[in-house]
Amino acid sequence: MSKALPYEDEPMHAMTCCVCGARTIGRQWYNRDYGYGLCGACAFDFLLGRETPEQMSNYYGHEGVHYPNREQWAEFEGKE
Ligand SMILES: [Zn+2]
Repeated sequence: MSKALPYEDEPMHAMTCCVCGARTIGRQWYNRDYGYGLCGACAFDFLLGRETPEQMSNYYGHEGVHYPNREQWAEFEGKE
């Protein structure tokens, strides 16, 4: 039996990136201030290779759940 991730069943909603302040989508992660998440630009351009996967999930939650994966980010950027 796999453990459900926090807020996994809720739809992604508008959030503010905790790194650059850009608008993004995601779900609340317990380690972040309320309403703050991670944008795709920071996830893929800034943090990739700097943080280990363990640090990423500890600080920002899970890609595609708490912060957008590349596909979700491209879709979000296309709507902006
Ligand atoms: Zn950002």
